[in-house]
Amino acid sequence: MSFPEILSHQREFFNSQKTKNLNFRKLYLKKLKEILIKNEDLLYEAIYKDFGKSKFDTFTTEISFVLKDIDYYLSNLKSLSKPKSVRTNLANQFGSSKIYREPLGCTLVIGAWNYPYQLSLSPMVAALAAGNTCILKPSEVAEHSMKAMAKIINENFPAEYLYVAEGGIEETTEILKLKFDKIFFTGSSRVGKIIYEAAAKHLTPVVLELGGKSPAIVTSSADFEVAAKRIVWGKFLNSGQTCVAPDYILVDEKVKDSFLDSLKSYIQKFNYEPEAKHYTQIINTKNFERLTGLIDREKIFYGGGSDAGKRYIEPTILQNVTWNDAVMQEEIFGPILPVLTFKNFNEALLQIAEHEKPLSAYLFTDKSEEKENFISKISFGGGCINDVVMHLSNDYLPFGGVGNSGMGHYHGKFGFAAFSHEKAILDRATWGEPDLKYPPYSKKKLSWIKKVL
Ligand code: NAD
Repeated sequence: MSFPEILSHQREFFNSQKTKNLNFRKLYLKKLKEILIKNEDLLYEAIYKDFGKSKFDTFTTEISFVLKDIDYYLSNLKSLSKPKSVRTNLANQFGSSKIYREPLGCTLVIGAWNYPYQLSLSPMVAALAAGNTCILKPSEVAEHSMKAMAKIINENFPAEYLYVAEGGIEETTEILKLKFDKIFFTGSSRVGKIIYEAAAKHLTPVVLELGGKSPAIVTSSADFEVAAKRIVWGKFLNSGQTCVAPDYILVDEKVKDSFLDSLKSYIQKFNYEPEAKHYTQIINTKNFERLTGLIDREKIFYGGGSDAGKRYIEPTILQNVTWNDAVMQEEIFGPILPVLTFKNFNEALLQIAEHEKPLSAYLFTDKSEEKENFISKISFGGGCINDVVMHLSNDYLPFGGVGNSGMGHYHGKFGFAAFSHEKAILDRATWGEPDLKYPPYSKKKLSWIKKVL
């Protein structure tokens, strides 16, 4: 079947009203959970072939995320879908007002390669939970993972409800010509602009989950052991190929040397040698070459080694870095950690504010005044104080970027809202209405209407 045919069947299916039934949604969410668990080994093998991702990382950062999402929607579907009663103003008495959550219709989810299961399946689960049909287009860059998802889902779901489309730029360009009711995209800001433009032709609303350079600020009052441990974990997880990984560090120049030593000791402790088998490969040769090209050998404080055959890059810390260095001109998306310094805290905030709004930002400090300034003075999607990355794992928080790092958000109830329309309904009684708003008008009516409005 061609893409236009699949979408046309999905539209017909959506119009049949079947997806609006909560039991129907639950049935397929349960089925999805069942087939993910049944095919867990297939998913582990596929992602390992793509970039050597360990079972531990695949479970904790991908599969468990999706299973948790399914469980959340199974438990909360009724309350999320329930019409919400709101107050009715005086001019509309006697009446009642409610907000109804309705599915948008036919949705398209486009995923990125770095967490191929989580970033494709999580938004897809939200789309289905909210009562939509969905075409999922995972990233072709993690090819085996894409094929595994296509196999599991297309063999178990009717294509008129949910379909996984395989393919790269050519296929995505074809799909983007079609009219969807929502497009949810995860990927680079560059491609995000292409998606936004294609969606604009149909006035299709979008969620754009993009990237950017996410800073981690370390002040002199920070607990260095905790900061170093958490930054090293968050940066080198998935070999730095994480949208919310700290891209660079801004450290108070007074404490730079001792903090660099703490970073080094945690890198050594966590053992990122290829033999340890928990350190993910770089996704492909193109990215391997791009990343090794960003390492200025004169600025290496730690690491710098690489092995092209294994697509391995050692955790690398660069020091004495400035905003003019190549490594500061683009999102790194790999295991290279540049360290810049600041003299006072406000100057650090200014450095961040002078650049594009990042997806995440992190602050390590003990001072409440610095926490307040960090939150109020600079704009970024979301972040943590005294931690990195973990805000993304709390489903009670919305996840998304701002400005160049994206628009819209998801996770938990926010994901449900992203794929729903809030329909406003005023239900009026047919009795008890004064004649005030109806012509002919008079001075007396005007004086009364002034009181009412
Ligand atoms: P990408 O933008 O290259 O690709 C993402 C998707 O877009 C893929 O499915 C790909 O097939 C498709 N695509 C690529 N070029 C296209 C084109 N010309 N026309 C239509 N579709 C096209 O991104 P990526 O390399 O997969 O992922 C890395 C980027 O994604 C980084 O910037 C990272 O920060 C960001 N990211 C963001 C999040 C988030 O949640 N905000 C999560 C992961 C990754």
